[in-house]
Amino acid sequence: MRNEWLLVEHGNVIDALDPRVQPDTSVLVRGERIVAIGGDDLADQVPRAEPVTRVDATGKTVMPGLIDAHCHMTYGESRSEEEIDLYTSPELRTLKAAFNAQKVLRAGVTGISQPGGSYFIGVGLREAIREEIVLGPRMTAAGRYITTSNGLTDYFPDSVGVPEGSIGVLANTMSEMVNEVRRQVKNGVDLIKLADSPYGDYQAFTNDELKTITALAHQLGKRVTIHARGSAEVGAAVDAGIDWIMHGNRMTDEVIERLAESKTPLVPTLLLLANIADWGGLVGAPVPLRDGMARALEKSAETLHRAHEAGVVFVSGTDSGFSVTPYGEWHARELELLMDYAGLSAFEAIQSATRNAAVTLNLEGQVGTLAPGMIADIIVVDGDPLRDIRVLQDKQNIETVIKGGAVVVFNEEALARRWPHERGQTYSTSDLTFDFVQGRDDAQALAAAQRESAWSKSDQRDLVATVKRRETGAVMPD
Ligand SMILES: [Zn+2]
Repeated sequence: MRNEWLLVEHGNVIDALDPRVQPDTSVLVRGERIVAIGGDDLADQVPRAEPVTRVDATGKTVMPGLIDAHCHMTYGESRSEEEIDLYTSPELRTLKAAFNAQKVLRAGVTGISQPGGSYFIGVGLREAIREEIVLGPRMTAAGRYITTSNGLTDYFPDSVGVPEGSIGVLANTMSEMVNEVRRQVKNGVDLIKLADSPYGDYQAFTNDELKTITALAHQLGKRVTIHARGSAEVGAAVDAGIDWIMHGNRMTDEVIERLAESKTPLVPTLLLLANIADWGGLVGAPVPLRDGMARALEKSAETLHRAHEAGVVFVSGTDSGFSVTPYGEWHARELELLMDYAGLSAFEAIQSATRNAAVTLNLEGQVGTLAPGMIADIIVVDGDPLRDIRVLQDKQNIETVIKGGAVVVFNEEALARRWPHERGQTYSTSDLTFDFVQGRDDAQALAAAQRESAWSKSDQRDLVATVKRRETGAVMPD
């Protein structure tokens, strides 16, 4: 579908560099790159005999394609952590990830970074997209999250351990960590993902461990990111030179200052929390979980506003890949959430998902803005996101997706396909007692309460840990 030349004509250009819109402006692309931005005379730059693909963007917004710095293609829209970790068939999960990649691209997301996933599915998917075997956004990938026994992704009981299909891999000593970094790099990852404590109330790695892992990854030419919800972890991550940081829900002013000074990007990843808090009830998420997410959002807002005021660099990421954050559905909602919960302007939100996020694709300064020499990842949008950022959330408004200078053609029928829950072993969500079957009031009330707190009250703080505790209490068949 690629001519040598592409001309996106007469659009209102948001270049992600200057907050002012350039009205009635055209973008000329040759091959993969933008060559010029300007008026009607751009077409004169194309030699007469050479064909030009023309996209009429009159009255539309022309802007860089979105980048999602936190998108898990291997999760397969799982409804439980055990579906992600225990029942992951590498073969089927890989094929599903390949199918789902087109959904992400259709939403105007032309670049993603996968901060952790099962096996080396992400590496294979990245290559398949690059070689145009699979239709999808350009991509970078981590392997399994490196976790200690105290980190996020060692959540099953020790009798289960950290299984082969898990998104985590256990490393409790420095030498195990170093081995795992070396092994992952050998297998082609772009970045290392570290799993610090689930909620941010302690450090699961020592400062020395973070420094050693980061130094080794950097020596081998790879980036490092970390799940860090609390102040101590964020501070330690900054000191270790970690390249960008996930979450940062609670931070002291002192840590915020260091984070801002270091220019280390922060990827708050609010979407997973907000989708569960706002609409989890529509899809059967239990009340305590929804309440817990709502409270976490509220607490994060205070920290993130301070971070924004201090000049911290924000990057948009969504944790897409769960059943509550399906592929291609909500990537652009993060921009709205960053405005609501961190105080970004609409233009800053756009930058968080374009220019600022390019580093997570290893393409800093090469993608994410519209300027001569940049890779031509461009979307044409019906509506003005500077006036209403939410126009980016409706795929009907994403009229044209251009990746690497080529207009992408989608199979809309394929995009509509969804699959059922892969596997779970829940027998019921409440107990089937004699009194309940007889319809006796007390028993009905008890069953209702059980259904409401399928996740127990004390475990409302974090989705993954919550699912973990539910799993440990579940009845396993012989
Ligand atoms: Zn994640």
